[in-house]
Amino acid sequence: MVDVVAIPALSDNYIWLLVDRGQNACAAVDPGQAEPVLEYIAAEGLHLTALLITHHHWDHTNGIPKIHEQHDIPIYGPMFEQIRGVTHGLEENTELSLDGLGVHFRVINTPGHTDGQIAYYGGGMVFTGDTLFSGGCGRLFEGTPAQMHNSLHKLANLPDDTLLYCGHEYTLKNLEFAKLVEPDNAAIDKRIVEVKALREQGLPSLPSTMGVEKQTNPFLRCHVPAIQQAAMDYAGEELVEDADVFAAIRQWKDNF
Ligand code: FE
Ligand code: ZN
Repeated sequence: MVDVVAIPALSDNYIWLLVDRGQNACAAVDPGQAEPVLEYIAAEGLHLTALLITHHHWDHTNGIPKIHEQHDIPIYGPMFEQIRGVTHGLEENTELSLDGLGVHFRVINTPGHTDGQIAYYGGGMVFTGDTLFSGGCGRLFEGTPAQMHNSLHKLANLPDDTLLYCGHEYTLKNLEFAKLVEPDNAAIDKRIVEVKALREQGLPSLPSTMGVEKQTNPFLRCHVPAIQQAAMDYAGEELVEDADVFAAIRQWKDNF
């Protein structure tokens, strides 16, 4: 049985630690810093068995060298990105079993935020890095809107009860924008209340679920008439394809 622990890092990143308490084993996702991971595992008496990396940005990878110095473990990451320290390159549908942890992942290619970004899906959880956030999605630094729209579509096809773990605590800001795009969506109001309560207690807004995201995240709702209309009003032109609706709201969010 695997527990997921949020280790806050930098200003608003999360390093996710998968922990098997029975075996005292753990694996870390996207260590943007080494110290908080090393301190946590020392305090809890855990041994680290792997690192999982979603993409090459420094806020997800800066901790790798220092952790690797002290732990000679496999470091998994996207096959199509150059990331110092990665020992095992992964691509679409690669299956992954982690030593000492009873969890099995399948890799999903999710280009858009970066060209080679991947997500890890397994055990009823998905780790999406900066592709899908709760209430939003990553900026398009390397990919095209069509690529990102397709990547998000793949994630949206996961079961509704899939727990979403993403790389940043951006949820409230994202939901403010979601509300602007779709003011009459009551599910967004409900989610804002829940997230505010969690944040006031100093707790992460995560995990979310794919079911909640499909109801509240505008970037997963490009097929919804109200969103399409809002996107066309913003763009000032007729948008026919869902991917064009996505492009318009992504641009709108960039200027929000
Ligand atoms: Fe990033
Ligand atoms: Zn990031």
